[in-house]
Amino acid sequence: MSKNYVIGFPRIGEQRELKKVLESYWAQNTCFEDVQKTASELKQRHGNYQKDAGIDYISSNDFSLYDNMLDMAVTLGAIPQRFQALKNEELYFSMARGNKGAVAMEMTKWLNTNYHYIVPELSIEDEYKLNGTKIINEYKEAHAYGIKTKINIIGPITFTGLSKRVDGGDVFALYNKILPLYEELLSEISQLDSEIILQIEEPIFVKDLDAKVLSLIKPTYDRLACVSPKLKIAVVTYFENSCEATNILVHTPVDFIGLDFLHGVENLKSLELIAKSNKKLIAGIVDGRNIWKNDIDKSLQLLKNISQTVNKDDIFISSSCSLLHTPFSLKYEEKMDEEIKNWLSYAVEKLDEISLISKIFFEGEKALNEKEKLLYEKNTKANSSRRTSSLIHDKNVQHRTENSTIFERDGAFEERIKIQKELLKYKELATTTIGSFPQTQELRAARKEFKNLQITKSEYIAQMKKYIDECIAFQEECGLEVLVHGEPERNDMVEYFGEQLSGYGFSQNGWVQSYGSRCVKPPFIYGDISRPEPMTVDWISYAQSKTDKIMKGMLTGPVTILNWSFVRDDIARSDVSKQIALAISDEVKDLQNAGIKIIQVDEAAFKEGYPLRSSKISAYEEWAVRDFKIAVSSAKKETQIHTHMCYSEFNDIIKTIEAMDADVISIETARSGNKLLKIFAKVGYKQEVGPGVYDIHSPRIPSVDEIVSQIKSLLEVLPKEQLWINPDCGLKTRKWEEVRQSLINMVDAVTIIRKELN
Ligand code: GLN
Ligand code: ZN
Repeated sequence: MSKNYVIGFPRIGEQRELKKVLESYWAQNTCFEDVQKTASELKQRHGNYQKDAGIDYISSNDFSLYDNMLDMAVTLGAIPQRFQALKNEELYFSMARGNKGAVAMEMTKWLNTNYHYIVPELSIEDEYKLNGTKIINEYKEAHAYGIKTKINIIGPITFTGLSKRVDGGDVFALYNKILPLYEELLSEISQLDSEIILQIEEPIFVKDLDAKVLSLIKPTYDRLACVSPKLKIAVVTYFENSCEATNILVHTPVDFIGLDFLHGVENLKSLELIAKSNKKLIAGIVDGRNIWKNDIDKSLQLLKNISQTVNKDDIFISSSCSLLHTPFSLKYEEKMDEEIKNWLSYAVEKLDEISLISKIFFEGEKALNEKEKLLYEKNTKANSSRRTSSLIHDKNVQHRTENSTIFERDGAFEERIKIQKELLKYKELATTTIGSFPQTQELRAARKEFKNLQITKSEYIAQMKKYIDECIAFQEECGLEVLVHGEPERNDMVEYFGEQLSGYGFSQNGWVQSYGSRCVKPPFIYGDISRPEPMTVDWISYAQSKTDKIMKGMLTGPVTILNWSFVRDDIARSDVSKQIALAISDEVKDLQNAGIKIIQVDEAAFKEGYPLRSSKISAYEEWAVRDFKIAVSSAKKETQIHTHMCYSEFNDIIKTIEAMDADVISIETARSGNKLLKIFAKVGYKQEVGPGVYDIHSPRIPSVDEIVSQIKSLLEVLPKEQLWINPDCGLKTRKWEEVRQSLINMVDAVTIIRKELN
């Protein structure tokens, strides 16, 4: 008997049906019954996909109308005060999205993924009360269409640890209110059937846990495992190793332990303990975070190694995490190059892989039927084609990557900045923006028409140039000092570059849920990266030709391009990053040769790439900094390099930011006053800084007075010689009315401050 397992399945639907019905319901174009109807259809269809693929352990309660953490908060009755008068779907969606009277709950990234969960709000005053309806109903629903599911829930330690206290204080101080509710929930669940597998997800176990949190694991799972003999408990972790927690869990009566062997190879060290304690092992070996075909022979080898320690009968073959983090199905990829498509595997295709691997592992190759044999053969072929394909392997790129040794710019910062200040003659508190200006309907339409060949290239270019002209005219009129072209030709700061780099692929339907009903479609890096021709030089040179002021060139940095793409898994991430960095350095050189004097290399996602484990941070920082530096290494002393980073807590990483050695960094700090800036002063940061003076994430126009006091608060931290004045991120999501007035106010505020200072 083969035994395989899927941690969770995407819920958005192969045609994003859930997104569509939710958004139509929110726009009041359809009723809630329609939402429920679509949800039921999707749950059933998704269950059947798994069943048909031969998956033995299929989940219920992996579905959600918005988010599973939010579901858990509702299940536990952790409803913030401001929503307590509401009921049912109104309550649920108000918590997620806010309503007229109450702001939405905060959202943040789920560990190191790009999925965002709703952060539960806990408070000592709140009374919590169990409501297990959703979980119970989804189990029964699946049962009714013929699938006996395991039940997924987020574990109590992860739920609490990833919540926040709204009344101040430590979240875990409220743990004794949370845990009894879980016991109650388990007891309710145990009444559903004579035997039930309960998957309790504890991804927080893959972080560096402090002793206090670690000490909760044993008592928690001793208690939960005792609730009912009918429950078989599977504690599942993913995205990294959870060695410390496993060391403890093996001494509790839980039945299964689920580990990710792809993103946490260290988990192999736990095998002996698992074997000794007679636990069953859910072995995460098919990547739930990527889109590549599994290398089945390699997986079998890994399983063979595992089974040298853990009894074969105790192994369950699984996805490394929920398949939520991969796109749905390849069947809608109609335009993709067949050779490339043949290397890919989305969620539905991964089911077949899990099933096939388990059949071979448990029953031997001889047991395969014709269809399975063919699948196996195709898999072997696809993987060997990936090893040799000329679409992937570019000798020139490899040679260059291995042999490039220039990581440093010419001249130290002190020398550079002196030359730059003389040459560029910008004033103290120089004003600029982050790059993009509003993306209007017309711009989007023009880009789309050009893509669909409905307008000619020259018509398209003319429209973009007209927009650039308008952006420049406005910036000159309002008195901004360092100008930008406005990025009208860019749909997305990564996609724009990906489309022009060799080695980059795009999907038609590779949507991955980002939050609520929202999905993103990350591009993917399948081969060695090179830049066949300049990517931005024409646009930026055109813009520079239209003004006497300095036009800033705009590029996206290597680390951000990497972190917002699916990345090939056949070479190290750091090597891919280095290839991108070299391509960007060519662009920097070309911009510089075209007479561009300031070049900004955005690293919006620099912080996002940080590993979950502190022991791995320095390795990441080393290559991430190296590659930013490679990207700008072609800049001469007199070329000023800017970078921009989106919201970040800089305290832990300030030395790394400094090591990137950008001449100017703009950061997203407007919402927290001068708080985030203090660390720059504290460590004696030398380079120049542009702390955002107003928040661009809201349509609100900041008044002159507000900006004046914001600038004053910045001046309390850093001297005027070191500061630039700018909004806190790109303006592309804003409307022109807002942007115009906000920037006029910003420039006025600077004028006032400069007068006061003189
Ligand atoms: N230059 C980009 C823009 O202005 C930067 C955006 C970002 O960092 N998210 O849109
Ligand atoms: Zn930003």
